[in-house]
Parts: sequence; structure tokens; C-alpha cells
Amino acid sequence: MTGTHHDVAEFALIDRIRARVANRGDVILGIGDDAALLQVPAGKHLVVATDTLNAGVHFPHDTAPADIGWKSLAVNLSDLAAMAAEPAWCTLSLSLPESDTGWLDGFLDGFLALAAQHRVALVGGDTTRGPLSVCVTVHGFVEPGRALLRTTARAGDDVWVSGTLGDAAAALDHWRLGTAHDEVLRARLDRPTPRVALGLALAGTAHACIDISDGLMADLGHVCRASGVAAELDLEALPASEALRAAYEGEQRHALQAAGGDDYELCFTAPAGSLDDIARLAAQAGTAVTWIGRIVAGEGVQVFDADGQAWLPSKVGYEHFG
Ligand code: ADP
Ligand code: MG
Repeated sequence: MTGTHHDVAEFALIDRIRARVANRGDVILGIGDDAALLQVPAGKHLVVATDTLNAGVHFPHDTAPADIGWKSLAVNLSDLAAMAAEPAWCTLSLSLPESDTGWLDGFLDGFLALAAQHRVALVGGDTTRGPLSVCVTVHGFVEPGRALLRTTARAGDDVWVSGTLGDAAAALDHWRLGTAHDEVLRARLDRPTPRVALGLALAGTAHACIDISDGLMADLGHVCRASGVAAELDLEALPASEALRAAYEGEQRHALQAAGGDDYELCFTAPAGSLDDIARLAAQAGTAVTWIGRIVAGEGVQVFDADGQAWLPSKVGYEHFG
């Protein structure tokens, strides 16, 4: 809380948070003082990412507090995964309409469950009154020179993606239309899996990497622009879950996979001929990966259908709601 408006309720919320956080040996001083004191391992680079989730923009209003907690950390860990960084610490800035301990306890259930999975310590934050908004900053480490960047894709690289595409956008489509509901798809929207182990495994082998938050075509487009190359994708190669196949077919499914947001999968490029290495590293990380296309000279992302025709997604079913 900033300014002169600290009140007992806000201190009670902070105490509630502090009582539940796990510690790490490299946290010299966590929650409680004006700032945290943290020990960065000698010789490593500190990697920092931050992302805000606003109610009604980044998650539906009916999202459970625990799911908001999970997702607010997951989207940040996904950014570290895309850099091949090992997560360590995070801070949490919470804006809440009212001092609601029930809401906070639920939020912490999800947030701290994911934090425990990745041994991430919550070391500080801010608590204010206002429209529901959650801003998380994560800190991690990487060996100098090993971070995976957007700028390092090369013509001739293969393009790969982790997991499956379009599930979260499908759940959002269901929610928006109110016509259907699928637990598996909804879980992919509410509880994305940050691919931290995969990102770490790919360092040293992959050339470029990005996490997919705005949709495969848009995010791979960022890599292409940053690297000065183009991508050619095979529409039929894009991985789909059983749940997505059961709920959507044809053009609609393809649009969700190629352009739907909120997947939090990793899209990466790797030298042609590294197929076996990628398969082995992905197996080690316990994450499925799929070959989806190639990097070529030029600019932009082009997708080709089964007949080899250039394909563009229809506008149906994947717009960000707001
Ligand atoms: P200050 O006025 O010095 O910013 P605050 O009252 O905002 O102090 O915070 C007191 C302590 O509680 C600080 O260590 C801060 O990092 C921590 N803190 C506040 N809000 C949160 C939160 N939502 N999550 C984790 N730590 C928090
Ligand atoms: Mg403060």
C-alpha cells in the first residue's frame, strides 16, 4: 500500500500471505521490510519478467480465486521458461475491491501450489484497494549466453511447439457463447502449465524461443520479425488435444490452434538435423513436442493446408474478449 491509506485490513491481508509463504536459502530477507534482500548465484544472470492479469480482460469474471492465483504465476513462469531460466523468486501486487480473506485464501491456494511445484519463493509485493488486478514479477537465473531469445532464429531451422494448441481459446469461446462447457478445455484456460523444464532442457540446442500467449501465428511472427526471417507452417501438423478435436472440427479448430491465445506453450526453432536431440530433450523434460514447420528467408508467418495452399484463419472463435 502506498501513501497514507494503510489500514488494519490491508496489514491483516499481508500477514495472511506472509504466514503461508515457503522460504529458500537465497532469500536473505523476504516479506516484512521495505524491500527484499536476495542472493543471486555467482556468475549467473538475473532474469526478470512481469505480467498483469485484469479481471474481465485476462480472465473471465467467474474464474475461481485459486485459478486466478495459479494463472497469475503461470503466465510469468512461462516467460522465464521461454528464456530457459530457472525460476527462483516472485513478487505479487494485488489490487482488491475489498478486503476479502476468503478470496485471498483461495487465491493463495492456487498461487502457492504452483510456486511450490517450481520452488519459487514469494518475497514481497504490494496490496491496494481497487478493481481486481494481479501483477506478478518473477526472477530467475540463467548461465551467461544460454538464454533463449527471439532474435536468434535462422533460415533452415525447424519450428517446434510444445503440448497442444487452441484448448484455452476453445474454453474462452465456450464461455463467451455460453453454449457448451468442457472441464478439460476450461482447465487449460484457467491452469496453464508453464513449460519450465522444457525451456531449461532446450538451452544450448534450440536457436530461438517464445511462449505463446497471443496465439501461435502472432507470437511466432514476433520471433520472425526479431530474427529477420520468415516461417512456413504445416496446418495439419499443429497438435490438437482429444478434447479440442471432440468439440471443434475443420476450419474452426484450425483457427483456434493457429491463432487462439492463452496456450502458454513454447514455440521454438532448432537447427535442421537436431530432430533426435529435440526428441530426447523433450522426453527428459516430460513434455511432448511437435514439428510444425520451417524457418525460411523472408518475412512473416505463412501457413499451408493439406493441399499446399496458403491458409489464413477465419475470425471465428478466437478473439480476445473484453
Ligand atoms: P511499504 O509501505 O514499505 O511499501 P507495505 O505495507 O506495502 O510496505 O508492505 C509491507 C511488506 O509486505 C513488504 O515487505 C511488502 O513487500 C510485503 N507485501 C505487501 N503486499 C504484499 C503482497 N500482496 N504479497 C507479498 N508481499 C507483500
Ligand atoms: Mg508497498
